[in-house]
Amino acid sequence: MLPEQITQTWNRASSALATAGSDVDLNRGAAVTRPLSPGLADSGAMTRVRDVLDVLDRLYPESLAEDWDTGIGLTCGDPDDTVTTVLLAVDADAATVDEAIRIGAEVLLTHHPLLFRPVQSVAADRPKGVLLHRMIRSGVAHVATHTNADRAPGGVNSALASALGLTDQRPLQPDDTDPAHTGSGRVGRLTRPLTLRQFAALAADRLPATVTGVRAAGAPDRSISTVAVCGGAGGSELAAAAASGADVYLTSDLRHHVVADFVADPGNPAIVEVAHWAGEWPWLANAAALIEQGTFGAVTTTVSTRRTDPWTLHLPSTGACG
Ligand SMILES: [Zn+2]
Repeated sequence: MLPEQITQTWNRASSALATAGSDVDLNRGAAVTRPLSPGLADSGAMTRVRDVLDVLDRLYPESLAEDWDTGIGLTCGDPDDTVTTVLLAVDADAATVDEAIRIGAEVLLTHHPLLFRPVQSVAADRPKGVLLHRMIRSGVAHVATHTNADRAPGGVNSALASALGLTDQRPLQPDDTDPAHTGSGRVGRLTRPLTLRQFAALAADRLPATVTGVRAAGAPDRSISTVAVCGGAGGSELAAAAASGADVYLTSDLRHHVVADFVADPGNPAIVEVAHWAGEWPWLANAAALIEQGTFGAVTTTVSTRRTDPWTLHLPSTGACG
C-alpha cells in the first residue's frame, strides 16, 4: 500500500471511528476490519512499542485527557523494542504484571496509570517500584490510556454504554471540539423501558462479576428508558446526569451524602453504582480489537480476566437497628 493510500485509509477509518460512539458492535469489541495505522504498512517490518503507541494515540489522543490527569503514555519500556503480544487490563498490579510476564507480552496496556501521583522513589521495595522493576527486567513496557480513553469515541464510556445495550449514544458532558462524539460519560436509550430493579439486574448481568456487585438508590419500580453512564468515579458528572434527562445514572465511587441529596430530588435520575473496575473493564476488548487491526494483525492481544477490583468481601448486614 502506498503511503498516500494508507493515509486515505486511515482518514476514512478515523472518521468511521469518530461516529462509532453509537456503534454497539464496534464498542463491544466485535471484529473490526478497517486498518487504522498509517505508520505501519503491511510490509513485514517488525512492530515496535512505538507503533503500538502510535495506534493508541490515534484512537485515544492525549489531548483529550482531563487537565488533572497524569501518567498517560509509556511508563517504562523502550519504544524501539519489538512487540508481538499486548496484555490489556484495567490496573497494573502484581497479578496483571505476572500475567504479562507469563504469557510473554512485551506491552502491558492498562486504563489506570501506574504512576498517577508524584513519587520520589521507584525502589524495588516500594509497591510501585517492585512492579516497575519486574517489568523492566522482564522486557515488559507499560502504557496507560486513562481519561483520554474515557472521552474518546469508541472509548471506555462508549464500551460501558454498549455493554448495557444503549442506543443513540451521545457524550454526557460533550467536548467543545467534537460535541457529538467526544466527551465525558455517555447517555443512551434502552431498547425497551425497564424498572430500576430490572435495570440494576441488567447491569449485574452484563458487567463482570465483583464482590460488591451492583446497588441502586431510588424507587425500585421507577421506569427507566434513558440511561447516563460514567465509568469509574463519576461523582463530578452528577449535575450533567441530572441535566441530561436520564432516568438513571450508572457510575462508581459515590458517597453517602452525595447520593442521599441527589435522589431526594424527585426530578433527578436514580443511581446505580457498580464496582469501578467492572464499569471500565468492557472497554478492554474493544481496545484489543483495534490494536490488532491497527498493527495489521502483527500484534496479538489478550484481555486479562483477573479481577483487580480491590474489594474481597461483601456481607449482607444483619445487625439490629435499635
Ligand atoms: Zn478508573
